[in-house]
Amino acid sequence: MEAYSLTKDDWESRLVGMGEPKFRASQILEWLYARRAENWGDMTNLPAGLRAKLSEGLPLTPLEKIRETGSADTTRKFLFRLADGQMIESVLIPASPALYGEASDRRTICISSQVGCAYGCKFCASGLDGWKRNLTAGEIVGQFVRVEELSGEKINNVVFMGMGEPMANYDNLLRAIGILNAPWGIGLGARHMTVSTSGLVPGIRDLAVQPLQVRLAISLHGATDDVREKIMPVNKKYPLAELLAACADYVSSKKQRLTFEYILICGINDSPDQARALAAHARKLGAKINLIPYNTVDGLAWERPEQETQEEFLATVRAGGADATLRREKGHDIAAACGQLRLQVEKSFAVPAPLN
Ligand code: SAH
Ligand code: SF4
Repeated sequence: MEAYSLTKDDWESRLVGMGEPKFRASQILEWLYARRAENWGDMTNLPAGLRAKLSEGLPLTPLEKIRETGSADTTRKFLFRLADGQMIESVLIPASPALYGEASDRRTICISSQVGCAYGCKFCASGLDGWKRNLTAGEIVGQFVRVEELSGEKINNVVFMGMGEPMANYDNLLRAIGILNAPWGIGLGARHMTVSTSGLVPGIRDLAVQPLQVRLAISLHGATDDVREKIMPVNKKYPLAELLAACADYVSSKKQRLTFEYILICGINDSPDQARALAAHARKLGAKINLIPYNTVDGLAWERPEQETQEEFLATVRAGGADATLRREKGHDIAAACGQLRLQVEKSFAVPAPLN
């Protein structure tokens, strides 16, 4: 996937280093992103010698689809195997009138940023097996390219809410966002990309000063340090006060609303006190709250609260003056629990070994 890691500047210097004119970079990028060529051999306006060299050094092998779940009219989840045998997941969430309104044509991809995750949130499947490695920018961009190809859909929204902590793979994340955004790349507006983080303050602070208007979502899941700390070890390193201060700076430098994601877990973070504290944080920042009923994970004891408790929590948050929605749709369950498919498959040993 390395070819998809390269920016226009990278291509130009690489090609000049190979004794080729700079304009070949634009030709190659057009083949890769506008025409979605899958073989160097197809790029007929490049000299044969160059094509041969590129196919040797930068093979365009697409991500290998191992499994797909879901159906064409709901969320589709793809399990991919990378060149080194590691597995990641990407989820396609098609336009959903119930979620976004009748006129919506939003087609979202939920992208993974790492294999596994080092942050070990207690409720999450992605961190259960620890962290394996960072994805390259090409493996991140490659998920977009491959899911568009497999689904035949044109994707117009990207959320970094798959496996891994995007801010812990910051350089590759920024590079991938640059390629997704560039006119010579995918050409997707930065406002159509959302980075979700468990609260890595240095990443939030750095993203705040980047020129791109990328959106930010914070996985809060606890409105006080004692509750948050119990389920998210990262809170010890970056406690709420520090996290919320970084969020405030993000909002003022980007002039954007941010989102708090808040999974509702029965008996853990679903009390009226938490709802009131959450509303106060959100109101101060003008943040929008997404309440998400917890999806059960094999091997973990957590459960979602009863529907009635969920509705009460929502009402309390709203009464506290915050803008909040509660996810009620069943079809989206599959999207919220990234990391599960990979674990299931790895545990069942159902995947054949790579050929080489
Ligand atoms: N590491 C980043 C992005 C990936 S997780 C982050 O934590 O924000 C994307 C979202 O899915 C996060 O809000 C995460 O807390 C949530 N999530 C993880 N496991 C879940 C589960 N079992 N049910 C519902 N949401 C879950
Ligand atoms: Fe990692 Fe995010 Fe899962 Fe926490 S919620 S373990 S940060 S992927």
